Amino acid sequence: MNAPEQVSPSLRLPAGLNFIGGAWVDDASAERIEVRDPSSERVLGSIPRSTAASVDHAVQAATAAFNDPAWAGLPPLGREALLHRLANLVEQHASELAAIESLDNGKPIAFSSTLDVPVCVQWLRYFAGWPSKLSGRQLAPAMLPAGTTHAYTLRDPVGVVGAIVPWNFPLVLAIWKLAPALAAGCTVVIKPAEQTPYSLLKLAELIDAAGFPKGVVNVVLGDGSTGQHIVDHPGIAKISFTGSTPVGKHIAACASRDLKRVTLELGGKSPTIILPDANLESAIPGAAQAVFVNSGQICFAGTRLFAPRKLFDQVLDGIAAVGASFKIGAGLEPDSMLGPVVSQRQLDSVLGKVQAGVNAGAAVHSGGGRVDREGYFVQPTILVTSDRENPAYREEVFGPVLTATPYDDIDELAAFANDSDYGLGAHIYTRDLSKAHQLARRIQAGTVWINTQLAPDPNLPFGGFKQSGWGRENSEDVFAHYLETKTVIVNIA
Ligand code: NAD
Ligand code: MN
Repeated sequence: MNAPEQVSPSLRLPAGLNFIGGAWVDDASAERIEVRDPSSERVLGSIPRSTAASVDHAVQAATAAFNDPAWAGLPPLGREALLHRLANLVEQHASELAAIESLDNGKPIAFSSTLDVPVCVQWLRYFAGWPSKLSGRQLAPAMLPAGTTHAYTLRDPVGVVGAIVPWNFPLVLAIWKLAPALAAGCTVVIKPAEQTPYSLLKLAELIDAAGFPKGVVNVVLGDGSTGQHIVDHPGIAKISFTGSTPVGKHIAACASRDLKRVTLELGGKSPTIILPDANLESAIPGAAQAVFVNSGQICFAGTRLFAPRKLFDQVLDGIAAVGASFKIGAGLEPDSMLGPVVSQRQLDSVLGKVQAGVNAGAAVHSGGGRVDREGYFVQPTILVTSDRENPAYREEVFGPVLTATPYDDIDELAAFANDSDYGLGAHIYTRDLSKAHQLARRIQAGTVWINTQLAPDPNLPFGGFKQSGWGRENSEDVFAHYLETKTVIVNIA
């Protein structure tokens, strides 16, 4: 296997330092956490498990920046200009950012360069348009005669945001939090996942170069213990978290102590529903992409397939063939289509969940094991089960693993889809648009994709029903979570 340096001789990873108040600082008292390339299992470097003192330092820097006229006094167009400048810098450094992401996370460069990094640029440009459009309203009190009162609302930034991001889309999910928070006028303490810190550190260099005032964005490195210090810090006004459902529930419980605002983007077990009349030429590759892209490490991946019994074998063989056609390879290999899962722990977790499903009676249609090579590679896997209590059917696996269930009656489908603790996404393939809309109405999910898959958009709300989370990201709706509404009432009689 090529060492990453040989694949890309010019690639230099940022040093594992915190970025606080505009300066790169070490946490000398912290233990170190090794960061690995999941394609080769090689250690790339290390980051500090930052202490409460480092988090406090970052929160103080963010609080000072929040109150500093250099940020608080900036006109909305000033915030827009900064976000546009950052978008341009991300675009100028696109190939470097994509290479860092692929090395650190293992995702194919073919995706990070065409999907992850362009998505970051698009989201920054979209949110750059919002600051000048965020304002309150003039309202007429219902209980007072017209002309006696002037009442209006103001929308104040909520304060210092604590953003905690996972490792599956390290840069994209950081931007999904940073862009609206900054557009709203908040300041941020952000922690990347310990598995994938490097793209956010590179982004911090670009945030600095774009001219954001010092302390507006602070990056603190570490694992869940560092995240916990952020959650517990009284100077944080709002937590924006993406990650696992158990950690999300724990954060909600912690935040209840001082009623911090909380938004949570958590797990999913999203159905892919193929109706009998679907165009299989697009439904089969769509269903395969929905579960195998990013090695299944997508919170809204389509992981529970429902296909008509009569078409079941044809659909499964088709999805397996698409999976088998994805070239397995290291993140930085240009023709790689299926990378490793992110870590040894994730590999063990995915294979353990497959085994639990098989032990409980699921049949292996294809895949089911580790790929025989170095790196944490998992075969594209399809398990067949009609037992809706099977653990592989119920639990989020977060790997390239599909459970497939045949059905006979389309009236059962909404109940099947909704028989889950989660409610993040759903995919429906059909040519019958009235059936599609009827089903979309009955499905409990934050997003329903019809005849398409895996396509979020900055102007469309994204989030979960049920245990998939609280709140919505993206679109104008996200500002409900980064702004407080203040009502001002003046007697002018
Ligand atoms: P995790 O929830 O432990 O980690 C996500 C982020 O939260 C990381 O930055 C982590 O350091 C931080 N964190 C962990 N404990 C914390 C705490 N007590 N307080 C504050 N921050 C904390 O997820 P994981 O262990 O890396 O992955 C486990 C499973 O989570 C996966 O198998 C998958 O099912 C799910 N997951 C979901 C998403 C998503 O996009 N919704 C992303 C990654 C993982
Ligand atoms: Mn890594």
